[in-house]
Amino acid sequence: MRPQGAVPENDVTVFSAPDYDGHEHIAFGHDPETGLRAIIAIHNSNLGPGVGGCRMWPYADDTAALRDALRLSRGMTYKSALAGLPFGGGKSVIIGDAKTGKTPALMRAMGRFVDSLGGRYVAAEDIGMTVADMDEMATVTDHVTGTSATSGNPSPYTAYGVLRGIEAAIEHKLPHNDGLAGVQVAIQGLGAVGFDLARRLHEKGARLHVADINADAVQRAVDIFGATPVDARDIHATQAEVFAPCALGAVINDATIDELGAQIVAGSANNQLAEDRHGAALASRGILYAPDYVINAGGIIEIAHGKSFGGDHDDTKIFAHLDRIHDTLAEIFERAGNENAATNIIADRMAEERFQTPR
Ligand code: NAD
Repeated sequence: MRPQGAVPENDVTVFSAPDYDGHEHIAFGHDPETGLRAIIAIHNSNLGPGVGGCRMWPYADDTAALRDALRLSRGMTYKSALAGLPFGGGKSVIIGDAKTGKTPALMRAMGRFVDSLGGRYVAAEDIGMTVADMDEMATVTDHVTGTSATSGNPSPYTAYGVLRGIEAAIEHKLPHNDGLAGVQVAIQGLGAVGFDLARRLHEKGARLHVADINADAVQRAVDIFGATPVDARDIHATQAEVFAPCALGAVINDATIDELGAQIVAGSANNQLAEDRHGAALASRGILYAPDYVINAGGIIEIAHGKSFGGDHDDTKIFAHLDRIHDTLAEIFERAGNENAATNIIADRMAEERFQTPR
């Protein structure tokens, strides 16, 4: 007899789930002792093992958890392919509240689950997880990165990659400009990435407009960089050459798109387009968009050069690799013009060209 409240048998959907995209491997893990319930999704491993964050989140139900694992692992395939990394796309989710439900035993159970895939998936830190959690997982598996022994702080690397992306966008859109000198950039969010980006832009002579819901961060940027403060509700509408979203996702949406004051959108935030169609909407308005997962790949590039993958974390090599973000974006901008398609569509196409061919 089916227990009361259980899902009818014909409602179980994995291969027909909306976010299933030919994923290679989806593993469901349960540990009765700790109560671990987790999913590991590997989207595509043609270029290498699936590398991606392990997220702990109190999902409303199993379907929401599966959706997130499928969607995020697919995103990692595209991101790593365009970052030129020998990685495929993977992601894992632990169903639970990170504030109340996390124990060292649970982390070790997750580590054993990751280990059971024998290195086909390598876990990194994500929402709800800390370096200490990754350390705990690493006591039972080698297939973890972002531990205290292997990781640095990715934000400065991400910020440098965004700076190089903005330079590529300026060269393409405003070729007569003298680099970043005098270019006006509106930065939304002065956190770990946004503040470092502001510093780098200021050093290159850009003029900054800044907004954050944290007034202290804004004041620091005003004091140190001579930035102009802008109300957080209006930053996207600032008249500037560049709008750099470095806070939230979905900032390019039906409500904001007609209010944008910049000719270029280029920042670190994940999932900047509320929907894919907003990429075409930007292009039709003559606004050049630097696809988010291309310009913000600095963090995973840094991880790839770390000890977890046999690297020496040599800054010279890491920054040389980050410079390729500039070149990849230049190619995307060029192709978008030639193929008359939005930059986000071209980025997806280029990623697919790389990862759909097995090594
Ligand atoms: P963070 O939390 O350090 O900074 C975010 C900042 O945005 C905070 O200062 C916050 O007060 C501000 N903010 C929040 N809501 C805002 C609003 N409505 N208007 C203006 N400011 C607002 O995060 P971060 O590490 O700097 O990351 C920024 C973005 O870049 C995120 O979307 C993140 O997912 C993405 N990203 C970061 C990295 C990295 O290496 N840190 C890598 C890839 C992508």
